[in-house]
Amino acid sequence: MAIEKTRPAHGGHGERGITVLLKRMHDVVATEATAQERLDDLTKVIAAHVVADVCSIYLRLPNDELELFSTQGLNREAVHQTRLKWGEGLVGATCATQKPLVTADAPLHPAFSYRPETGEDPLHSFLGVPLIRSGKALGVLVLQNKISRRYTDDEIQAAQAVATLLAEIAASGELLDEDTTQEVDQVLHGPVRLEGKGLVPGIAIGTAAFHDVPMPKHKVFADDTASEAQRLESALDDLRTSVDDLLASGSLAGVSRDVLETYRLFAYDRGWKERLRAAVFSGLTAESAVEQVQAENRARMMKAKDPYLRDRLHDLDDLSFRLLRHLSGEIDQRDDLPENAIVIARVMGPADLLEIDRARLQGLVLGEASTTSHVAIVARALGIPLVTGVSGITSSVEAGDDIIIDGETGDVQVRPNTDVNASYREKAALRSEQQAAFARERDLPFVSADGVEFDVMMNAGLALDMPHLASTGANGVGLFRTELQFLIGAQLPRMSAQQKLYTEVLDLADGKPVVFRTADLGGDKSADYMVREEEANPAMGWRGMRMAIDRPGILRPQIRALLAAAVGRELRVLFPMVTLADELVFAREIIDKETDFRRRCGHDVPSKVLVGAMIEVPSAAWQIGEIAKCADFLSIGGNDLAQFFFAADRDTEQTQARYDPLDRSFLGFLHHVLGNAEKADMPISYCGEQAANLVTAAALAGVGVRRFSLPASAVGGFRRMIRSVTMAELTAWTGAKVMNGRGSLRRELALWLREQGILFEG
Ligand code: PEP
Ligand code: MG
Repeated sequence: MAIEKTRPAHGGHGERGITVLLKRMHDVVATEATAQERLDDLTKVIAAHVVADVCSIYLRLPNDELELFSTQGLNREAVHQTRLKWGEGLVGATCATQKPLVTADAPLHPAFSYRPETGEDPLHSFLGVPLIRSGKALGVLVLQNKISRRYTDDEIQAAQAVATLLAEIAASGELLDEDTTQEVDQVLHGPVRLEGKGLVPGIAIGTAAFHDVPMPKHKVFADDTASEAQRLESALDDLRTSVDDLLASGSLAGVSRDVLETYRLFAYDRGWKERLRAAVFSGLTAESAVEQVQAENRARMMKAKDPYLRDRLHDLDDLSFRLLRHLSGEIDQRDDLPENAIVIARVMGPADLLEIDRARLQGLVLGEASTTSHVAIVARALGIPLVTGVSGITSSVEAGDDIIIDGETGDVQVRPNTDVNASYREKAALRSEQQAAFARERDLPFVSADGVEFDVMMNAGLALDMPHLASTGANGVGLFRTELQFLIGAQLPRMSAQQKLYTEVLDLADGKPVVFRTADLGGDKSADYMVREEEANPAMGWRGMRMAIDRPGILRPQIRALLAAAVGRELRVLFPMVTLADELVFAREIIDKETDFRRRCGHDVPSKVLVGAMIEVPSAAWQIGEIAKCADFLSIGGNDLAQFFFAADRDTEQTQARYDPLDRSFLGFLHHVLGNAEKADMPISYCGEQAANLVTAAALAGVGVRRFSLPASAVGGFRRMIRSVTMAELTAWTGAKVMNGRGSLRRELALWLREQGILFEG
């Protein structure tokens, strides 16, 4: 009989019981005995304490199998004999999921795998707890009872405490023999591949370094409110000075100051300071006050759907961290970075990034950031590969580990083996060759192999993006999203600030055309200072032109700023979310009135004003003819048009994955829209970000798009692709496919492009 003892099961032993058990475990580890004897003693001590019929310890081998290392209650002959594959049986499942597995009737569980050699037949209740260390499962602690029962939460927690200590002991080398310790070490420190989201493309190979500074413990309630208020005041002063110094230093050469200026605005924001002071005067210490205001800010951040707004709240979050560091006096204690550092941080603001030694910084892995966050914008401007959203990074990586990140795919390779290392080095070399080739090709025209011409511009939103015009050879800016300036500030940007930005952008464009889209505000893109009603469907709510018409106080100053910035030059103004032709008539009237007003005041005006409508709502797409009567050009906002066409929120992952813009229905619809624009003799471009993907861009070209506005990073690849395509063939192929059958063309088109030998990656 395998089961050596049977006792009635009952609840856990409470906290004191657990403390006693953990101490006994320490004592066992400290005794003089062979490794196996000590391990067996441990299982005996645990089993006795937690009232289990069986207590077993399985350890993970480097090949990911789980071996029974010790048992109290199962057949002893099974020790070092019973092995389970990764994910196999209840033990394997516990290890693979890294979560406790509890069942009252193990044989009935779908994952159950019967092992006769263990003699486990009479056992019913099962509790498996993974031994986790550095984010990895090193093995499993198993408790079993004969009777069918559910382990209580207390018991599970107690088992987890034991498992944590076991993992600690296993990794320390104190318990196991040398070979096994080495094996555990291999599991712990072996190569790991993690996945995140690539935000700034590029491959970085280097050494991991952590940026987050641990916050020392502090008191919650203040003894002396006045002196806390004083501490807060001087920390705020220090914080502001540090940001000012950064702005004043020459280290910002080449990077637009816009981003840091905005950051500085937050540092000087009166509302923030007042909230902090109020928290101190409610009796908190300065540190607790910062944390409380930060928590409120985070709560808003979680709710904010609009990425721009979320990013600005991130800046505030980051400033709070800096303020805490000023309070603790740790701001100056920066450890030297290793050579080729890949810096890992939960959050980072643009100021922090700019302070890092550029000569050593190779790449960044951040817990939270999005394409439009300031830190990403600065990283992009500096050409530092950036990956975000990598779960488990802090537990899987130690400072000093070798690490590789791919800012395009979002892959993170921790402690890569030599093969992986070599293949990334090769990939990096190929990429830089490709970048160099794209740069060499930047003056080549966007013309297909059979002579069809394309007009390719780029999307932008900050002055910082403008140098990409020269580096990519784009023909101009096809979409300048002006709302960014409205969303990052603490208040509506003054007309003078708007005019300054537009002038700078036109100057930097150096004669190339720039299409300014008026602020696409409302919906989710709502800044803090805008008082608005809650809407059930913000994407379809009071936004874009609808808001502009109802709030001339926003649109008029913007038009004035645009007219003033473009004096003597051509001005292109694009209106977002146009739904009915009358809205564009209204917009044009405002432009005409403001132009007349300037003239009457004796001011100069632009040499020419072109008015455009975004086609991003199906009703506008349907009445292209009418809209064309009052427009000079049109631009398809594919992101929104697809959202409304499929009735699928563009920010919801499930709906995004479900509906592909290369679905024949959407391509057919676009073909129809393009045809109507052609009939109306109206230039029409496509500025949705989807065209950054080459297969998508090819499909759009196939249905008739000849003008694109792409993210700057996509321009080089697009030029390459289009120059090797024979448009007559692509048009015929796409036309035939769109007319027949159903579903997305993506896979078929990708295959076709490869078969044609069209230079093309991905
Ligand atoms: C679009 O909708 O495709 C577009 C270009 O505008 P935005 O992404 O700013 O809504
Ligand atoms: Mg849009």
